Amino acid sequence: MPQAEIYKRQTRARKPDTVTAMRELIRHIRASIPFDAPDARICSGACQGCSMKLLDFLSSELEDCERDLDAGVKPTLKDLSRLIGMARKVHDVLRRNGLVDAVDASSSTSADAPETRLPGLG
Ligand code: SF4
Repeated sequence: MPQAEIYKRQTRARKPDTVTAMRELIRHIRASIPFDAPDARICSGACQGCSMKLLDFLSSELEDCERDLDAGVKPTLKDLSRLIGMARKVHDVLRRNGLVDAVDASSSTSADAPETRLPGLG
């Protein structure tokens, strides 16, 4: 078998299907974005974009995606890409507003801290 064909098959075998990829992406976003931060911390005053609205928006997008998955809808690569873009934008605003850093700083150990980056997402 030609080397190129072997590589192609190995690559294909390693790629998760879009349903698995979407579930993993949702899990990763939930772990990376501080959805459970208290309102008092989210509404810190000097906001550059409304963290509260963006958290609500992203949370509802994740719920919609999960509902679709549970209903047997297979996401496309475009769906995955769209959700990644959304999560990146929300994460950027949270970082600008100091919410992600505030969550990091308030945690006593790094083991307790939620993951606040989106590795591989930006
Ligand atoms: S802009 Fe949004 S996040 Fe900031 S204080 Fe107002 S409601 Fe809270």
